[in-house]
Amino acid sequence: MSMLTQDSRHTRTPMMRAARLHEVGQPMVIEEIERPRAAGTDVIVEVKACGMVPNLANVLANWETWYPHEPLPPRPAIFGLDPVGVIAEVGEQVVALAPGDRVYVNPTRSCGACHACASGVPQSCDHWTFAGYFGFNRNSLAIYEKYPQGGFCEFMKAPQNAIVPLPDNLDFRQATRLGYLGTAYAGLKKLGPMTGKTLIIDGATGTLGVGVTLLALATGVSRIFAVARGAELLARVKALAPDRIDTFSNLSGSTAEWVRDQTGGRGADAMIDTLGAVASLDSFKDAMHGVGRGGRIVNIGGTAGELGFDVKWGMDNSIGLSGSAWFTTAEGMELVDMIRCGVIDMSVLQPKAWAFEDINAAINGVTSGDGGFTSYLVEM
Ligand SMILES: [Zn+2]
Repeated sequence: MSMLTQDSRHTRTPMMRAARLHEVGQPMVIEEIERPRAAGTDVIVEVKACGMVPNLANVLANWETWYPHEPLPPRPAIFGLDPVGVIAEVGEQVVALAPGDRVYVNPTRSCGACHACASGVPQSCDHWTFAGYFGFNRNSLAIYEKYPQGGFCEFMKAPQNAIVPLPDNLDFRQATRLGYLGTAYAGLKKLGPMTGKTLIIDGATGTLGVGVTLLALATGVSRIFAVARGAELLARVKALAPDRIDTFSNLSGSTAEWVRDQTGGRGADAMIDTLGAVASLDSFKDAMHGVGRGGRIVNIGGTAGELGFDVKWGMDNSIGLSGSAWFTTAEGMELVDMIRCGVIDMSVLQPKAWAFEDINAAINGVTSGDGGFTSYLVEM
């Protein structure tokens, strides 16, 4: 009998705590569920903290109405987009990562087997999916079966190609900001080499906008035209590099006219738009006309709708317009190396953390008072 008892204790399934959403509109429930185990090329990460998407409660409540073609994970679901932690376990095929490694988990998953994945552009994979958030088409449901955990739980499974090892000078709290910073970095790269060039940042005071500003400074953009509404937060953006950043409140007039005034009529070399899901497109339409001939425009924000792009204007002026979704794990590695070397000053971002037990307060508690200077997260 005693042998049996001991055996059953040893083979008992390890459990973990997870915050799960059973129904959209309901609070998340913290419950004990089976802990995932590593196999193959996957790793298990013990989550230490996870970033909180500002306005997540509102996003989840409306997502399936706004974007019915982009599925949320099946309920009960574990959300959590920007997890960081320590590798707890590695699959038998893993050679370059080990238990104890401090890591960021890139939440994007793809099939790993198609032409896009093999080419290093997983965003173009038909299975591209945000673990712990939403998928880009119905194929994501197959991915959610393989990778059901976001970061709002104690242990999550991830493929080894999603892992970004963290440098010693980047703590877990700051590292939960990597999703927004990586999105800013990948968007800037799509503008082409920007060294010595000028850039309009529309929505410069928001979570993405502050990230774009830091990355633009780090990558040699000579002059930044930072545009937003509120003067107070714009002053904080200006203070990041007063000689290189000029600010404009688009409550006071046209961004395009202001930028042309600032550039002797020529316009800026590029514009990046960062506005969020509920923003009007008027700000985007105005700001994009501040780019000059040969200008490049990239959208990394969640704003939606028909832009009304005049293709004759685009042709006459050789204007490029593109979207940029998230970033690759390789870009995440480049980003943390810039942080390791001090090229990006993370100290301007202030973390605001909730305990895991208070996750429902966190989901509803994100305020926009500090704009993009605050990073919101949950700590395990
Ligand atoms: Zn693929």
